[in-house]
Amino acid sequence: MALMSLFTRRVDNTPPETTAPPREPEAPKAIMRFLTQGGAPVDLRPARFTTRFDYRGAPYAADKPYEIDGFNWHCTGCTSYGREGDTYNDPGYRSLEEARTKANAHAEKCRSVVLPNQASA
Ligand SMILES: [Zn+2]
Repeated sequence: MALMSLFTRRVDNTPPETTAPPREPEAPKAIMRFLTQGGAPVDLRPARFTTRFDYRGAPYAADKPYEIDGFNWHCTGCTSYGREGDTYNDPGYRSLEEARTKANAHAEKCRSVVLPNQASA
């Protein structure tokens, strides 16, 4: 009897969906990828973020926070992400070279793996 229920045809009476579900804005594509010691990808992407960085350097800060285009990395294993500088602690890097160096340094030390329920690119 249990087998019969496995092969019972089910009728789906729900009407077809007429509108597409709302979509989250997609993150920019990764432009570089590093692997942790455990094989989790560390993705480096373009990022727009708000900063108070002033080109005169610390301890000066811009009068108002402003947005700039830069880069950031995110470890899909341990969920860490990059922050630039001790003073402004920006959630991104102005320089691709610095973001790349920091992403690679994180991947070199991090031993995390990707959990099966997080495996996506
Ligand atoms: Zn990590």
